[in-house]
Amino acid sequence: MFDKVLIANRGEIALRIHRACKEMGIRTVAVHSTADDNAMHVRLADESVCIGPPSSVESYLNIPAIISAAEITRADAVHPGYGFLSENASFADIVTEHGMTFIGPTAEHIRLMGDKIQAKVTARQLGIPCVPGSDGAIQDAAEAKTLAKDIGYPVLIKAAAGGGGRGMKVVREPGELESALSQARAEARNAFGDDAVYMEKYLGAPRHIEFQILADSLGNVVHLGERDCSLQRRHQKVLEEAPSPALNADQRAEMGEVVRNAIAKLGYLGAGTIEFLYEDGKFYFIEMNTRIQVEHPVSEMITGIDLVREQIRVASGLPLSVKQEDIRFLGHAIECRINAEDPQTFAPSPGVITDYHPPGGLDVRVDSALYAGYRIPPYYDSLISKLIVHGKTRNDCLMRLRRALGEYVIDGIKTTIPLHERLVNDADFVNGVYDIHFLESYLKR
Ligand code: ADP
Repeated sequence: MFDKVLIANRGEIALRIHRACKEMGIRTVAVHSTADDNAMHVRLADESVCIGPPSSVESYLNIPAIISAAEITRADAVHPGYGFLSENASFADIVTEHGMTFIGPTAEHIRLMGDKIQAKVTARQLGIPCVPGSDGAIQDAAEAKTLAKDIGYPVLIKAAAGGGGRGMKVVREPGELESALSQARAEARNAFGDDAVYMEKYLGAPRHIEFQILADSLGNVVHLGERDCSLQRRHQKVLEEAPSPALNADQRAEMGEVVRNAIAKLGYLGAGTIEFLYEDGKFYFIEMNTRIQVEHPVSEMITGIDLVREQIRVASGLPLSVKQEDIRFLGHAIECRINAEDPQTFAPSPGVITDYHPPGGLDVRVDSALYAGYRIPPYYDSLISKLIVHGKTRNDCLMRLRRALGEYVIDGIKTTIPLHERLVNDADFVNGVYDIHFLESYLKR
């Protein structure tokens, strides 16, 4: 097992990883920008190293600075968290070349799944059902026209290097195709430096359902069931739950096995998520995330399995601590992503937290790096807290969630707590009747 892990991240996920390490007897090294001198992840870590100025490019994305910090502190592994360098295959390579362990899959698998065209080809070969669409990158408008006609409008143009919903354009009729194609290309080039795009059938009212997997280096693979992440704004998840209100135990077991077999064939290592759109009882693969995800706690709450702990175990060469037959799905869990944003306009709201009181009680979990007096810097993602609640049934979970949201005090800035308070009382949400477009239209009401 590792003696010391460097956590190449900030905020709640840095703290989340720190906690798993401490419970395993592993020392931690925090890295931080000058804007994060007083951050909780820095205060709690055993050691910390300042790696640059506020801008992420010069700090949390600064590979030479992070590698130097790991060498100076003699860390033997690096956990990248999510975002930042977590899906950067060259970073994984560089960590390994410096004699340390990258806590995640191989650089080869990160690279493969990072290219969404390659990922789809691979998924299809592994027996995972995919959204009908182009077999590879689209060369020109003429090819796009023929393809769209075959697939049937509406179609979606997506960036091969995609992420965060960027470089994605819906095309409803042939007349819109050419300009949508060049817009998607331009957006992809700006965001990812790669203008390769592909085409998919645009599904009208799907749910976003994803399966969590874990794999060790001895060939063991388990799935931890699914998460429903259909509540999205601008393709960004806002609230997630497990299990999905749309699936029954048989559907879960069946798809779980498809995913497990595919991951075993791939020879994958670590935690991963296979994302699907789900419509009319059918699953369609959209992408695989090769890292821990923001919404992982809902799976932990219904299975009792610490995903970060398993990530660390398998990276060090140990077997998974659980077998598929031991995994039970107990009750229901919901996560609310709380952002430092105006709940109506979604404008960022950084600033000083003047008062802070997180909710507590049975089956209430708060993953956050906030504290009273903390100044939220304006440079990073606006996610400041995750409130995760468990209950015996979905209804118990909702009752507890309403109670917990009502207790949560974050003063001094605006947060999205009021949005969640409204949402968890909405009749359609309460009945579990929603798809990926629900939230956008709900917000227009
Ligand atoms: P990104 O990597 O940019 O997040 P994804 O492929 O994961 O892109 O898709 C993000 C979101 O976009 C999905 O959760 C879904 O809401 C929507 N989406 C993606 N593909 C389709 C599709 N074929 N039809 C309808 N909506 C889609």
